[in-house]
Amino acid sequence: MQVMLATGNKDKVRELEALLAGTDVTAAPDGFDPEETGTTLVQNARIKAEALLPDAPEGAWVMADDSGLFVHALDGRPGVYSSRYAGPDATYADNCNLLIDELGDADDRGAAFGCVLYCIAPDGSVLVSAGVLPGEITREPSGTDGFGYDPVFRPVGDARTLADMTRDEKAEISHRGRAARGMARLMGITSEAAPA
Ligand code: IMP
Repeated sequence: MQVMLATGNKDKVRELEALLAGTDVTAAPDGFDPEETGTTLVQNARIKAEALLPDAPEGAWVMADDSGLFVHALDGRPGVYSSRYAGPDATYADNCNLLIDELGDADDRGAAFGCVLYCIAPDGSVLVSAGVLPGEITREPSGTDGFGYDPVFRPVGDARTLADMTRDEKAEISHRGRAARGMARLMGITSEAAPA
């Protein structure tokens, strides 16, 4: 089974490659970066999958990931704008620092990561799977693994941030891991190496 990922984000490719073990995963061509004009994760995931479709090899599945961080005290921001929260050229560190600044001393630090995977099968049918990871925003960054907001996000029931965890530990609980395991079931991936 060949899966082409509709994302230019190397960190997402790395995580999804591991999550879809047992399939032949390839990344989108260099420079793939369609304009994300949607206001929901599903809309943006669909835009990315449909943008890649003409470039996908015959017989391949096209899979797009759209994800973001939804912060309760910020009325759900940055949400679908998570990658651009501190500006169009923001680094991960810029985004984390702005988030910590904007939350200040707020006691309500509740947040959730969301991920939608949108897949177009070789026969043109569409599969959608979502995953959510609830947690809270820390008062300072911790950890060096992962990407994006991982250093400032502590999942419910854990003392560590996502960036303090190994890739496997994050995959077991993360929004992307949950969405990928659901998608693997929808795709009928049954190999032992595939996510259960
Ligand atoms: P997208 O490419 O529009 O889906 O942007 C997703 C953005 O959300 C990323 O650039 C990160 O800032 C953030 N994000 C999504 N998933 C994760 C994650 O697993 N850890 C940390 N940040 C994430």
